[in-house]
Amino acid sequence: MEKRWCNACGESFEPRPQTPRQLYCAKAECQQSRKRLWQKTKRKTDDDYHENQAQAQSSWRRDHPDYWRRYRESHPEYTAANRQQQKQRNARRSPALHASPIANSDASPQALPVLGIFKLIAIAPATLAGQHEWIVKISLAP
Ligand SMILES: [Zn+2]
Repeated sequence: MEKRWCNACGESFEPRPQTPRQLYCAKAECQQSRKRLWQKTKRKTDDDYHENQAQAQSSWRRDHPDYWRRYRESHPEYTAANRQQQKQRNARRSPALHASPIANSDASPQALPVLGIFKLIAIAPATLAGQHEWIVKISLAP
């Protein structure tokens, strides 16, 4: 039987005969990682999916208006940690984006941080997704 290395945990596994192109092992956290990447890619590449997800989340928030307020009240450690993490994310942003600290996924950025060092991660096609990433430097040509 052919052995492969899981894209998430890096351990070897035998692909199931039903899924000959399997890239992730059967562990729950690796399957969750696979699903998260699939959703992220789908949101970026399928406008209908992105719109449907946004509408579903919006209507859920409308039907549960107090959910997040109550969650934050009953999970102060989560709230404190999230606040700290958001400060760190804001600090990493470029000055151009720093003006509006929390991005709205529906809004287009006013200015792109086009100069700098970036991590480029393959998300499609599926055969490349999660397997390749590069550090790239974007600078002005002389
Ligand atoms: Zn795995």
